[in-house]
Amino acid sequence: MLLTEKLSGEKLVNSSNSPSPNQRLLPLTAKINDKNHLEIGGCDVVDLVKQYGSPLYILDEKTLRTCAIQYRDAFKEYYPGESQVIYASKAWSCMAIVSILASEGIGFDVVSGGELFTTTKALEMSGYNGDDIKEKIYLHGNNKSIAELELAIDAGCKIIVDNWLELETLAQLTAKKEQSAKILIRLTPGIECHTHEYIRTGSIDSKFGFDLNQLEAVFTFIKEQNFIECIGLHAHIGSQIFELEPHNDLGGVLADWFKKALDYGLPLTELNVGGGLGIRYTESDDPPSIADWVKTVATAVTKACEERGLALPKLIAEPGRSMVATSCITAYTVGGKKVIPDVRTYISVDGGMSDNPRPITYQSLYQMAIASKMDQEHSETVTVAGKHCESGDILIKDIQLPDTNPNDILVVFATGAYNYSMASNYNRIGRPAAVLVNEGESSLIIRRETYDDLVRQDLLPTRLAQ
Ligand SMILES: *Cc1c(COP(=O)(O)O)cnc(C)c1O
Repeated sequence: MLLTEKLSGEKLVNSSNSPSPNQRLLPLTAKINDKNHLEIGGCDVVDLVKQYGSPLYILDEKTLRTCAIQYRDAFKEYYPGESQVIYASKAWSCMAIVSILASEGIGFDVVSGGELFTTTKALEMSGYNGDDIKEKIYLHGNNKSIAELELAIDAGCKIIVDNWLELETLAQLTAKKEQSAKILIRLTPGIECHTHEYIRTGSIDSKFGFDLNQLEAVFTFIKEQNFIECIGLHAHIGSQIFELEPHNDLGGVLADWFKKALDYGLPLTELNVGGGLGIRYTESDDPPSIADWVKTVATAVTKACEERGLALPKLIAEPGRSMVATSCITAYTVGGKKVIPDVRTYISVDGGMSDNPRPITYQSLYQMAIASKMDQEHSETVTVAGKHCESGDILIKDIQLPDTNPNDILVVFATGAYNYSMASNYNRIGRPAAVLVNEGESSLIIRRETYDDLVRQDLLPTRLAQ
């Protein structure tokens, strides 16, 4: 069968009521052009690789903006109170993505000094002023350094406090600086969801957040601090979640504790429900739409607040994967083919676990195509191997593709999340370039790492140098 046939329901989208990007394998602008090549954002993928080299991340601006707009507008539609969508930058933090999402009114969840720096720099360069910036940035992390906490206090952004040590450190730092900090408390809600163990965060056995039985002591402690302003509660239950029920349950747990914190006299105004909506990586994946997820979350919080007689808080959600994953594809150049009769056929590509560590880390699956052979039958079963010195560096096992030849361009769909951001220099392979495509134009947004980049941090002790 042709990939185009299988994906015919996903072909070209140009209407105002776009489908939910996270329910598709391909970016919204994907089409097959008259050369039978794959085209994204009006750009021929084969030509992009000729121009920018391989491997290449290709980011479709329209799909990215559509995700942002759907999240933002769904909260406006389904939540009667104030709301703010913030992007979980860890999915892919780079200046162009920050700038695009900010222009759609999205804020940012950052988990390190580096993400905070990238975000503030991109916002400043895009013309946002100090107040706009700090209002929409939230610093996360279960082991923030003192330097990171100071950076956040100085930037005036909000801090999501994860544990006792951090709370105590923050109390000392803010008192010493005589500068107050706005914080949210991260709690572990004890909600189970069905996803990979490494990306499940909401159950009791998690490294993140305060246990529920600690919270009253936390509230008491905060009450005694002069420079800590606790403005909200936060929970995040996991990632790549296809069920809606856990998010529904979360509303009740958060509202219970929100009420208790108010009873303690804390001035809470914000409720942050985390992220976690799954996306479609393979044909059998069937995640809910962005709008349905938002509707569930918004309705659960509204109902839970009404039942407890609470005024509606400002509702915050922090999607990462579902905001960015579908917007991006990775293009590789095919090398050799190894046929082991009656066992398996391998084809090798010029990247792998250093630009996409998800298969080796989470056994993740992906859909693929050959960008120059979009009209051909997917008739051959092959295993796509990366080029790293590691037997486990396999991008996918036993996938159907057209008959491939060296120099064909293989594309992997839905690589926008947790690919570039988890990329490494394993085997001293430079990280690929990323290009933004929109309406037939392409712009480089991340340079390809050069050999010089690879040795930039290396130093030779003088006694070893000539
Ligand atoms: C990872 C993470 C997110 C985003 O999760 P996605 O599954 O990518 O939407 C949001 N909030 C927190 C605290 C996270 O750790």
